[in-house]
Amino acid sequence: MYWHIEMLMCGIIAYSGFREATEVILEGLRRLEYRGYDSAGLGAINGKGIELRKCVGRITNLNELITQKPVSSSTAIGHTRWATHGPPNLENCHPHCDATGRLAIVHNGVIENYKLLKNRLLDLGHKFTSDTDTEILAHLIGHFYDALPASEDKLLIAVKKALAEVDGTYGIAVIHADEPGRIIGARRGSPLVVGLGEGENFLGSDVSAMVSFTRDVIYLNDLDVVDINDSSYKISTLHTTKVTRQKSRVDWDAGDAEKGEFPHFMLKEIFEQPTSLRNVMRGRLNWDHGDAKLGGLQEVKLSQVKRILLLGCGTALHAGMMAEYVIEELSGVPVETDFSSEFRYRNSPVDQGTLVFVISQSGETVDTLAAMREVQRKGVKAYGLCNVVGSTIARESDGGVYLHAGPEIGVAATKSFTSQATALVLIGLALGRTRSLSAREGSELLAELSRLPENVEKVLNTSEAIKKVALRYKDSQSMLFLGRLANYPIAMEGALKLKEISYIHAEAYPAAELKHGVIALVSPETPSLIIATRDGVYDKNRSTIQEIKARSGQVIALANEGDSDITETVDSSILVPETHPLLQPIVNVVALQLFAYYTAVALGRDVDKPRNLAKSVTVE
Ligand code: GLU
Repeated sequence: MYWHIEMLMCGIIAYSGFREATEVILEGLRRLEYRGYDSAGLGAINGKGIELRKCVGRITNLNELITQKPVSSSTAIGHTRWATHGPPNLENCHPHCDATGRLAIVHNGVIENYKLLKNRLLDLGHKFTSDTDTEILAHLIGHFYDALPASEDKLLIAVKKALAEVDGTYGIAVIHADEPGRIIGARRGSPLVVGLGEGENFLGSDVSAMVSFTRDVIYLNDLDVVDINDSSYKISTLHTTKVTRQKSRVDWDAGDAEKGEFPHFMLKEIFEQPTSLRNVMRGRLNWDHGDAKLGGLQEVKLSQVKRILLLGCGTALHAGMMAEYVIEELSGVPVETDFSSEFRYRNSPVDQGTLVFVISQSGETVDTLAAMREVQRKGVKAYGLCNVVGSTIARESDGGVYLHAGPEIGVAATKSFTSQATALVLIGLALGRTRSLSAREGSELLAELSRLPENVEKVLNTSEAIKKVALRYKDSQSMLFLGRLANYPIAMEGALKLKEISYIHAEAYPAAELKHGVIALVSPETPSLIIATRDGVYDKNRSTIQEIKARSGQVIALANEGDSDITETVDSSILVPETHPLLQPIVNVVALQLFAYYTAVALGRDVDKPRNLAKSVTVE
């Protein structure tokens, strides 16, 4: 059914225009690398037919193939595959061709009824060379194409006829050697964007694929079909012959999606946080009333909200969990946080008094999208908290707050976390101000919020010291992360970062849980990182440190600068400036991001593209 769609990772780029098409495809695929993939390929119309180049592994391999055997073309399609049907080998690599070999397609998604379609085609004598569902779709389109008379608009009609028979999800780009210059794209459940240039047009899974060539784009809707060549584009839907979709202008450029002098995107993005934090707060601090103003929530009657529900996955969930403490503290409104992936299958009550936020950097996270649709299906509005403008969540939610963090390319989320957390603090402030939070208390929080970028900057300035601590513990097999109250989700986020990029096992617990079981893991080989910045449970955390030390455990403390009481009792310290207790977790997490980063680099890990992970998890 429509809201059970699943989207896949992987990337599509397609080009028709005056440039060397294979160059554009390679550039686009490189920019889509962050999405995660296991093989790559391209298909180009060369005047006679379609030439294919495919490789397993990284785009650099594809680049080499093309250097060895160049293809000259003005129309091409490219793909990074995240295997769902058949292993990542050359046979399964996209593009896939039809029976004639003159039609080629790249596809992102899953054709659920591919077996049925395959059997039908087998009966008609078709032969297949891959295990993929995509090849079935290629043959099906080809089958309709070949049956159509030349007087018809063959490629467009054939694509639509085939898609009408497909159950499942797709973002596709299709070319035919008999119609050079032309590309048909379509989407259902997987993203597809049209890029508009002068004498050239593009299709891509997202704007980063084309942003070095154009910033004028159109985000397609599900069931849209687009027909492009070098000088025009036409959008229709599976069921209509013409629709109009709004053009958008991308507000960042290719430079924003490049590493510059940083060795990794992740480090660049960690260091961008003072800027991204300024951006998420810009225009949203209401100094006159000690309040926050969030345009996207204008129509919400905050004073009538009875309950808040925050939904997300991974890092976004941790931002929600942190906000649970902060929003309840500021406003007294009960907050519940849930995994989007659980919520979508639970029968969790929501009603008109519930203010729901779905949190997703990419705005494409499939579980979060499904959770949002589940909320909406129950007649309750769902608001989005996302970074990618024009993403599916941004478009389908009932309003929301953009993070304005700029592109996040590193697979491990960093700046999106601090922006999500800060946006949620602003929401808590706005809610609090409709209740018992005074203007004075609101203004105090605003003052500390405006110092947040500076405080994060101070943490960044200590990165060499954090690196030294990371080097000392890099060979650990396992680590414990401990924190309490709003720092418990920060401990979880710190542990997640370490797992994701260094592959060291790490577990996070609220510190007081230690003696209920986890303390059995404490030993000289398993260091504990405890967040012990000054807050209401500071003394409790100091006792926890003693408990660990008494059992020969090594302790790394994340403490406030100048806190010699802590630094003298532990093995290593990471020091951060002190701020408002509700904002301290946002400062603390930056130190843990750096700790994970330097550990992973020291272990020689592929920091920006850790194994088994993809940037936007668009598969269930
Ligand atoms: N289902 C297709 C395959 O396995 C496409 C996967 C993808 O989205 O990369 O080849």
